[in-house]
Amino acid sequence: MPKFFFKKNDRVLSYCTCANEPAMSSFQLDCPWCDCGWLISCSKCTRAFTFAEVRETDLSLLELGRRESTARGLTNVSEDEIAEWAQGMSEAVDRFDVGDTIVYLDGSYWKVDETNIEFTGDFATHKLARLPHAEALPEPSRLQTTLGNKDYWLPRERQDRE
Ligand SMILES: [Zn+2]
Ligand SMILES: [Zn+2]
Repeated sequence: MPKFFFKKNDRVLSYCTCANEPAMSSFQLDCPWCDCGWLISCSKCTRAFTFAEVRETDLSLLELGRRESTARGLTNVSEDEIAEWAQGMSEAVDRFDVGDTIVYLDGSYWKVDETNIEFTGDFATHKLARLPHAEALPEPSRLQTTLGNKDYWLPRERQDRE
């Protein structure tokens, strides 16, 4: 069975009230501090939440891709584009195990308890002892004040970004 990211819970920060729905792939805009760079969206209501879980699913990734284009209101997505999306998502989910708790940051998915993370994302270069999502578990407001703040992102912006 294929694996995919599903909404896990409403902890820390969640605008979505659905339960257990599949996630949508990331669609990061040029304003990652607005949520699009550090939260995951629900494929049913398209609202964002913090924690996803890797689960096995009866749905194929192609079906999930079609579901996502519908949720986004896209009408002219070709089967080739869906197939490409499915391939990309299957690679993204593949490095995780069923049951892992996943968060999103700047172009990549991470296991919430990963440590010493250094990477260049879509927008910024990050060096983190722990993920802000994990640090926010005991103190949810911390996520907005770190990743939700331009002051986190702008000084770290990639110099080679167009
Ligand atoms: Zn944004
Ligand atoms: Zn939802």
